[in-house]
Amino acid sequence: MKITSVNFIKSAREPSQYPKSLLPEVAFAGRSNVGKSSLINVLVNRKRLAKTSTTPGRTRLVNFFVINDLLCFVDLPGYGYARVPISVKMDWGPMVERYFRERENLRLVILILDVRRDPSENDLSLIEWFRFYRICFLVVLTKIDKLSKNQIKIRQQRIKEILGLSLDSNIALFSAKTGEGKGTVWKEIEKMTSTQK
Ligand code: GDP
Repeated sequence: MKITSVNFIKSAREPSQYPKSLLPEVAFAGRSNVGKSSLINVLVNRKRLAKTSTTPGRTRLVNFFVINDLLCFVDLPGYGYARVPISVKMDWGPMVERYFRERENLRLVILILDVRRDPSENDLSLIEWFRFYRICFLVVLTKIDKLSKNQIKIRQQRIKEILGLSLDSNIALFSAKTGEGKGTVWKEIEKMTSTQK
């Protein structure tokens, strides 16, 4: 998609604060420091739209951005960062689950995992919610520039097993450093939001 405009709309903690407009929505989830901001920034060709974090775990709210006045990107709070206070950690589950449960225009969640790491408990909770609330999701393995093709294949297999995904299920490979996989991720977004342009 050719990006003509990207506008930050607002940050929200709960549904009453979500934007009223119901454009097709795509949400991005992942543990702190996984590369979520970098992925969003590459997708929309912006250097610093989503904050690339020097202090991981800082973005603790649900952030809404409108792309081309056509669809909405939602940057969900990261999770799993050790130095975050316990109160903030406890906030994450209910805040995110509520978003999944109540946001009727949500079309797709992109779950970002570091290709080198096994999925965490929180990653698995997300997958459970997607299944429970019947939300379409795409798993994106990022930082693939750090491994060889062969290592990526092995990791991909292992991550599928841990997540309980069938071996032929769709997992995208991505690198914010090289831009590899950007087209694949966009294709999936356009398919799920019917916004091919
Ligand atoms: P977030 O906390 O999930 O938003 O993670 P960031 O986007 O801030 O990225 C965390 C760190 O990983 C930063 O130092 C990024 O430069 C780095 N990073 C993110 N994506 C990639 C990638 O695809 N390849 C490499 N080599 N580094 C990446």
